[in-house]
Amino acid sequence: MDNASPLSRREALAQAQEALLAWFGAHMRPLPWRRDYDPYRVWISEIMLQQTQMERGVQYFERWMDAFPTLEALAGAPEEEVLKLWEGLGYYARARNLIKAARAVVQERGGAFPASFEELRALPGIGPYTAAAVASIAFQEDVPCIDANVERIIARLLDIDTPVKEKAAQEAIAEAARLLLPRGRAREHNQAMMELGALVCARRPDCPRCPLSPWCLARKRDTAEHRPVKKPGAGPVELVLASGVLLHGGRCFIQKREEDDVWGGLWEFPGGCAEKGERPEKAVVREYLEETGFAVKVLGKYGVLKSTYTNHRITLHFYALAFAGDKPGPAPEAPVLTAASESRWVPVKELAGFAMPSLYRKAADALSGGQWGMLGLLFPKA
Ligand code: SF4
Repeated sequence: MDNASPLSRREALAQAQEALLAWFGAHMRPLPWRRDYDPYRVWISEIMLQQTQMERGVQYFERWMDAFPTLEALAGAPEEEVLKLWEGLGYYARARNLIKAARAVVQERGGAFPASFEELRALPGIGPYTAAAVASIAFQEDVPCIDANVERIIARLLDIDTPVKEKAAQEAIAEAARLLLPRGRAREHNQAMMELGALVCARRPDCPRCPLSPWCLARKRDTAEHRPVKKPGAGPVELVLASGVLLHGGRCFIQKREEDDVWGGLWEFPGGCAEKGERPEKAVVREYLEETGFAVKVLGKYGVLKSTYTNHRITLHFYALAFAGDKPGPAPEAPVLTAASESRWVPVKELAGFAMPSLYRKAADALSGGQWGMLGLLFPKA
């Protein structure tokens, strides 16, 4: 640790460790996986809480445990059911990796949950952070957990004035995280750091309430609001998507995305990005032709939906569509799928049963709930 930091003195370090643990003992939230620290429950909570607010994460966690209370139950569940339960959390690769990992543990290890950082890292979807979190919280292994919260706390404790993602800053943070961890107390310490980052040393630090303030350089130098330093540049990327629902004989067309896709295994209405200078109503017609071989025409616009995904800001223009030839009657010709593994024609009331990315879920719910005015009448309700 940097000599300027009060934590570079052994005695101060021990005091800071104790102060943090005492604070955690007094302030920790009663979260469901903290009742018994069962490895399966800890693992699910860690995966679920990435990119999700705590309150929402807890609701999903309780629903998940009702449906899949054990590793064996998850390993034996159909993927479709798991994805449906995950719907709304985004990052669906995580849900698919949970199934793969559960099956690997059951089939290759006879159901014995991996109990060390190294063994956990070998499972699908478990990176260094999750392996450290499960190894320390479920098994008390002495490994520090470093996520964005912990990075922020340490960048402030040490008053790191260079971008935190740069190599030198990452090394300093990793070294400090290792030194801060009191041996044999990894479960409490790592959760205390996470909790401190969520409740006190948040984006806007609440230094007067912080158990680490006597040892914090940023607090002393009044720079906490300016730490961590972010890399300059790189703002959000704007994406304009065009999609819509193709109606025929009282049913609508949906397709299932390819497994290796970003939303792999989920259902959607065909569509995609508008090209530079292309109007969304042209883009949706082109996308249908490219993805399904269907020549469609736009009947009207339902609306515009917005969402963010990692550093993308997405605007989805959503339309009512019909076959261009407008031929009523028997089932349409089979689609030629180029971006999906499967397709179906389904009544609108059945859309609720298909797992979809959040923007398409909103569109499907608006269709079935009749929120889109006169155009909603295109859909028979029963
Ligand atoms: S004193 Fe303030 S800046 Fe320092 S760790 Fe605590 S909350 Fe964060």
